[in-house]
Amino acid sequence: MNIKDNILKLLNEVDDVCNEVGVKSESIKMIAVTKNVGIEKIMQAVSCNLRDLGENRVQEFLNKYQTLDNKDVKWHLIGHLQTNKVKYVVGRICLIQSVDSIKLANEINKKAKELGVIQDILIELKTSYEETKFGVDVNHIDEFLNQVADLKNIRIKGLMTIAPKVNFEDEARPYFKIAYDQFEKLKNVRQDNMEIQYLSMGMSGDFKAAIKEGSNMIRIGTAIFGERK
Ligand SMILES: *Cc1c(COP(=O)(O)O)cnc(C)c1O
Repeated sequence: MNIKDNILKLLNEVDDVCNEVGVKSESIKMIAVTKNVGIEKIMQAVSCNLRDLGENRVQEFLNKYQTLDNKDVKWHLIGHLQTNKVKYVVGRICLIQSVDSIKLANEINKKAKELGVIQDILIELKTSYEETKFGVDVNHIDEFLNQVADLKNIRIKGLMTIAPKVNFEDEARPYFKIAYDQFEKLKNVRQDNMEIQYLSMGMSGDFKAAIKEGSNMIRIGTAIFGERK
């Protein structure tokens, strides 16, 4: 199958699950995850109107950022970010989805302030213990928010989580539920640098389960571009 067919199939599946749970499919934002994918294939996805692209490595992002016309696309960083690489992504990435420490939030704020921009971020939430290495513990989220409350050059737009690998998709639902509950809680927190909007969860193997649990942003690689080499 080609990329266009993959995308049509995917959009149909998203429609179906949205109908099933009674949400509008337009309310689900799809991020095309382009790690390990070459420019030509990325352009095919862009021409099918997928304009939000996700990368998880800074160097790979920078190469593609220089090559693609960035008027057409928005970049999301979805992989672990080291503080020493922050300077390369602030202002270029529209949404840093993988903010998992106060130290990292501080560094992003510092760089954004230097550039005179407000950097949108998501807090990566750790919803399982075995398989996800990074993320803020659910029990530490309040403390995290307190510690970053005075950072004026970041804007917290919501949460991101990665469910562990499971045998049956529905087994991922309890992890997504944990994130959804936190997301709902966050909506009630009044803090200047918060504007809660996105709950980023669901990948090729578990986006249906994620949508059923309230995701409004899914991150899809394999189902669009095929298996990664
Ligand atoms: C690779 C990756 C995805 C996409 O995974 P697929 O299974 O290929 O859809 C989504 N989110 C993150 C954080 C990833 O690293």
